[in-house]
Amino acid sequence: MDSTTFSCADCRVQGCAKGSGEYPAGCPTAALDPGQIEAVCRAYEDDGLAGRIMAAASAVSTEAFAKRWSRVEETLEFFTRMGWKRIGIASCSGLAEEASIFARILRLRGFAPYGIACKVGAVPKSRFDAPESCCDFGTISCNPLMQARLLAEAETEANVVIGLCVGHDMIFNAHSQAPVTTLVAKDRALFHNPVGALYGAKASTFYNHLLKPADSCCS
Ligand code: SF4
Repeated sequence: MDSTTFSCADCRVQGCAKGSGEYPAGCPTAALDPGQIEAVCRAYEDDGLAGRIMAAASAVSTEAFAKRWSRVEETLEFFTRMGWKRIGIASCSGLAEEASIFARILRLRGFAPYGIACKVGAVPKSRFDAPESCCDFGTISCNPLMQARLLAEAETEANVVIGLCVGHDMIFNAHSQAPVTTLVAKDRALFHNPVGALYGAKASTFYNHLLKPADSCCS
């Protein structure tokens, strides 16, 4: 695989989503045999939790389409259908107010939220070989592994990410004991709406540099 390899990210046909049977050259669906597809379908059932999540997510996303729910509303309904009560909140310390609002919303609906903020443990950034310049924005490090461990100790049934940094979120997601959903994807420039840069990249805005060749990712 090299940078020119065709993938779903380059597809304009979307024959899989339409069920049209029309597949471009290099299409992963066209390359699958029925046995592979059936094996994965059975894997959802064998897993149990994955099967329940699939059923609930399909039902809730359909309702969310029809009723134009916000992501918060969709998340609440999904947790309700899953029968989960103990909800972990893995939040960025910079979004403490947002985490607090979400916790209040959960409590009002009978859930039991339990939040762990990213700076838990108060470990200095120097402990993780961070360059000195990182301390310009605070000396205490995020600690996503500790967030995951403390939420596991609290036996949360699902964990919600609110604004963890890129990279820290990977560690949290990889180590969370409970299934994870992201409510807020941090974006310091776009009010936590990262898709704005993708829409902006197609228009005559500041972000159209993202669709031009560049020496570095952010130049
Ligand atoms: S599976 Fe095939 S049709 Fe579907 S998005 Fe990928 S390339 Fe396109």
